[in-house]
Amino acid sequence: MPTPAPDTAIPELSKEQRSSDGVRKFLLTLEDGAKIESVLIPGPRRTTLCMSTQVGCAMGCSFCATGLMGFTRNLTPEEILGQYLFARQSLVTDPLEHEIGNLVYMGMGEPFLNFESVTRSLHTLRESYGFHSRIITVSTIGIPDRIVAFGHLFPTVRLAISLHHPSEVERSALVPANRRWPLSDVLEASREYQSITGRRLFFEYVLVSGVNDSEIHARTLGGLLADLDATVNLIPRHPDGRGDASAPSREAMDRFWRTLKASFGGHVTFRRSRGLDIDAACGQLATGRTGA
Ligand code: SF4
Repeated sequence: MPTPAPDTAIPELSKEQRSSDGVRKFLLTLEDGAKIESVLIPGPRRTTLCMSTQVGCAMGCSFCATGLMGFTRNLTPEEILGQYLFARQSLVTDPLEHEIGNLVYMGMGEPFLNFESVTRSLHTLRESYGFHSRIITVSTIGIPDRIVAFGHLFPTVRLAISLHHPSEVERSALVPANRRWPLSDVLEASREYQSITGRRLFFEYVLVSGVNDSEIHARTLGGLLADLDATVNLIPRHPDGRGDASAPSREAMDRFWRTLKASFGGHVTFRRSRGLDIDAACGQLATGRTGA
């Protein structure tokens, strides 16, 4: 498969914000004037870069600021890679940050609805920039045929699937894409992915107070995942400008964690919220909120 040249253009920085916890958010302007955001998250041993794959997003998840923007267009492979080149260049000015050792396709957009550009950028990251697949994560809302195709193409790239609710009707309210790609099909594709790759799957679950955070939800979710080798990553709902729902209390989140852990054999982790004060955390990216 042809890959774009490694001399991909570096996008123009329109604005940079730095969080009190060291997270940096870049508002980047593309050649046609479209704007995207990417987020650099320094860690104790390595820095993570969260990249966008689309300008906006058509999926309209009810807890996500990007979804509120609507969809403008797909990014090209060069525009995806340009975010990496920009971030790598920006590290030169900050000697306290480690090199980029984790790449996550979790920024603005649904990567599997821009499959061609995402897969071409992954080929280039591996072949031209020497990235090992195992330090790259692609996150999807769950598009069954793409999950299977991805497993065939990139069996060692980490795949994260956003679930957010264990029942079809309520998941559709949080993730409207569930009406087109139901949870049952997503889980079936997950099993097929696992039989192709033999790799653990990662499931994301945004906890919303009073919506999907009860012990019954946790037990039902555990039952659905019982036959999968999986890690569930719990994420408290972050403010996205709508203010109509919030994260559960710490106590409720701990209860959910305990119940889920007891009801299935996999790992259950909490994602630490980083970059909240600059709207750079999960579900908060939206160029309109950056003052663009
Ligand atoms: S959570 Fe992901 S898929 Fe859903 S609207 Fe936001 S960017 Fe799109």
